[in-house]
Amino acid sequence: MESMSKSQFKGYICRPYCVFFREGQKEAMACQGAQVVERLVAQGRLKPEALARHQKHPPLWQRQDATLDASICQHCSFRLKDCDFTSENPPPDCEPCGGYILVSLLMAKGMLTSDDLKEVALE
Ligand code: SF4
Repeated sequence: MESMSKSQFKGYICRPYCVFFREGQKEAMACQGAQVVERLVAQGRLKPEALARHQKHPPLWQRQDATLDASICQHCSFRLKDCDFTSENPPPDCEPCGGYILVSLLMAKGMLTSDDLKEVALE
């Protein structure tokens, strides 16, 4: 089983994809999107090196995706109070967390399926 180090986690998920990431800031918790990516790597469904080469493509997350919502956001500690993206009235152009973005990109490229997500959603 392959696990990601803290610096890989930041380097592959948070720094390249997450608008909320601040260099040097310690987060007690990680968003569920990043945790799902970490579990996919641990299960060998994704190689860490495959994560950091994707251009962001905002039309993919213009509105919430039902599959990602059920497999990721429903299990996220930030959902109720801290996540604008999943709020009832999201501000224009707001972005989801980096993990959600990365999962969206990988699914659009056929590197992940909704079955992969379901497998790791409730671990
Ligand atoms: S988009 Fe929001 S609710 Fe969904 S995983 Fe990311 S932080 Fe959590």
